[in-house]
Amino acid sequence: MFDSASISSGKTDFIAESSDDKPPQRAETVHELLARLGGDMEEIDRVKKVYPMKISSHFLALIQEKGDPIWKQAVPSAEELSDFRNVADPLSEGRDTKVPGLIHRYPDRVLLMVSSKCAMYCRFCTRKRSVGRVEQTPMQQIFQGIDYIRGHPEVRDVLLSGGDPLLRSNRELDIILRELRSIPHVEIIRIGSRVPSVMPERVTPRLVKVLKKYHPLYMNLHFEHPREINPDSERALKLLADAGIPLGSQTVLLRGINDDPEVMKELMQKLVKNRVRPYYIYLCDLVKGVEHFRTTLQAGFDVICHLQGHTSGLCVPHLIIDSPGGGKIPILPPDYLLATDEEKAVISNYKGEVYEYPNPRI
Ligand SMILES: *Cc1c(COP(=O)(O)O)cnc(C)c1O
Ligand code: SF4
Repeated sequence: MFDSASISSGKTDFIAESSDDKPPQRAETVHELLARLGGDMEEIDRVKKVYPMKISSHFLALIQEKGDPIWKQAVPSAEELSDFRNVADPLSEGRDTKVPGLIHRYPDRVLLMVSSKCAMYCRFCTRKRSVGRVEQTPMQQIFQGIDYIRGHPEVRDVLLSGGDPLLRSNRELDIILRELRSIPHVEIIRIGSRVPSVMPERVTPRLVKVLKKYHPLYMNLHFEHPREINPDSERALKLLADAGIPLGSQTVLLRGINDDPEVMKELMQKLVKNRVRPYYIYLCDLVKGVEHFRTTLQAGFDVICHLQGHTSGLCVPHLIIDSPGGGKIPILPPDYLLATDEEKAVISNYKGEVYEYPNPRI
């Protein structure tokens, strides 16, 4: 039911893409809705000339009022244009790109971009400079990436990313996954996707039937706010989990959206309840146009300390800073390890009670 045809015909009725010369028929609906909620249409139009805008009907329906955490993720804001500090490609992904769309930064795993499209363009996106601006990634380019992997036996883990891989048709995904699985040294395949949050109806029994042929297949899903867990996304998560796909989550710590430790705890608990294991919380990258979403590192520590010990360890992800060109760096709050010397470590638990852990006598 949900092959590429229905993505390009059925779904675009509900979304507004700034790249189109003539907006699709129901684009007015998006505008009308944003205007009704008090959106400044002149501002929105000005920003979307610079950074693409697309809001899925599902996400649009989650907005309760102007400026709420759902709105902020989806609706262009003039603040995107007044960021003179950051650069477009802070992670220097260009440097590790071996063939177009393939990033080989770590010893045993690669990132393969299989889609330039997303179901929605998040205003805080790290790949703001690239996603949603060009035609869909050609299959020919993806095959080049797969050839690179075939020629590099050290690659045992392939991450499919983009854009969003689930914006490819079931048939295209089937072909990509089949090709990857034909490579003996590829042990695991991972798919990164925001679709269960922004376009849960894309997760169908037919999609899942394709995915489950290629185990061990993991998925890392992108959620930002507890309201993104609702009956529609829960149905999608159930389909994926029931297919035996281990689900993880990635979340970016965003000012005014989820930088309240209680909000983040609720999100983590809701994910775990739906068989999604929180994997990473990222500090916001230094990407041009997202400065207004950034938080301090201390805000990240506050979130982790509010989780660790206070709720199931399953709900506690790693806190990560993606360093410019140097990859992901885990940052542990300093609260737990107070001091070390030759004899001992001085440690503290989540309640602030202090303990000593002596070194072994050699
Ligand atoms: C994030 C990322 C990976 C995967 O990292 P893990 O820590 O293994 O999840 C691989 N390659 C690139 C380029 C990445 O950015
Ligand atoms: S879904 Fe991911 S890649 Fe796409 S716009 Fe949102 S953050 Fe960026």
